[in-house]
Amino acid sequence: MRTVKRAVLVKPGAPLEIWERPTPSASGREVIVSVEMSGVCGTDHHLQSGDITLPNPMVLGHEAIGRIAELGPEVTTDSAGEPVAVGDLVYWQPAQPCYRCYYCTVVEDVSMCPNLVTFQLHQHADKPPVGTYAQYAWLPDRTAFFKVPADVPAEALIAFGCAMPTVLHALNRLGGIRYGQHVLVQGSGPVGLAATLLAHLAGASSVTVLGAPPNRLEMATKLGATTTIDVTRTDERSRAEAVKEITDGRGADVIIEAAGRVPAFTEGLPLVAPDGSYVIIGLWSAPGTSPVEPRYLNNHNIRVIGSAYTTPRHMYETLQVTRAVHRRYPLAEMVTHRFALDEAQAAIDAVGRGEPLKAVILP
Ligand SMILES: [Zn+2]
Ligand SMILES: [Zn+2]
Repeated sequence: MRTVKRAVLVKPGAPLEIWERPTPSASGREVIVSVEMSGVCGTDHHLQSGDITLPNPMVLGHEAIGRIAELGPEVTTDSAGEPVAVGDLVYWQPAQPCYRCYYCTVVEDVSMCPNLVTFQLHQHADKPPVGTYAQYAWLPDRTAFFKVPADVPAEALIAFGCAMPTVLHALNRLGGIRYGQHVLVQGSGPVGLAATLLAHLAGASSVTVLGAPPNRLEMATKLGATTTIDVTRTDERSRAEAVKEITDGRGADVIIEAAGRVPAFTEGLPLVAPDGSYVIIGLWSAPGTSPVEPRYLNNHNIRVIGSAYTTPRHMYETLQVTRAVHRRYPLAEMVTHRFALDEAQAAIDAVGRGEPLKAVILP
């Protein structure tokens, strides 16, 4: 039994507390990982501020890289069949689909599993932490985890820790981006930047990013954006004109919403080209309504595609994309802020202010 330090959200609005609690050993198909790097996600800020309310107390953190500290006696491989041993570096997200329901089995979309146990549940601080703001994390049975190859730098991978799997899942639901399409990305946080890179890699003829501040837009350019537009220095009308000009007057064939604000949807819809698609990823924690004339969708053959969460497949693909491109694109430069576990509150505050491209906690 080891004692594990973890950052605990006791109730929304209250500062995170550092608790130390004993943690049992791994049994059966469980794994215990020594956390090397936990990404700080905008969702953590929403949970801490109370924008999203879930049962407390909980240990935050749902994207991490760490070394296997203990393998349950029944675990010999990672989730892709790769043999694993104590000391191996692995990448995982705390989510356990049931694999015994209509969505897991028939639809084959584990992201909609009604029995999904994710980071927001299951994290009571008197149990082993599933959340990754902790020295050690517990991977219960059915947690997808993947061995990180030696040639993949940890910071390049955590840069898009939960963002790239989220975007890959959404692009899968879209049916992919085709060569020569015009893509518009709304938002330049990690999700928007992951979308920018993936649209560029997919062969889009233009990738326009609407966002702010300038350092994020500079990163967007490094990741393949062909045009960036600062939303704080332009109005909706001038942005619409710019998009029409870039897209030969048609509008964007694919718009990826990663802005996290309802007005972005209102602004984006008229910018979708006829026969185009609007992929909504960022509004998960943004309540509100937007007026839509359904006839507009009807008469322009427009598809609106919602996409929530991710799946183990898209985590695996994130690992492969990172491995393939990290030498050509400065993925690791995304990690601009590093915090100790004791500074977890400061990390969340910095993310709330939008300062880091990506912040990580090094427990
Ligand atoms: Zn996240
Ligand atoms: Zn299920």
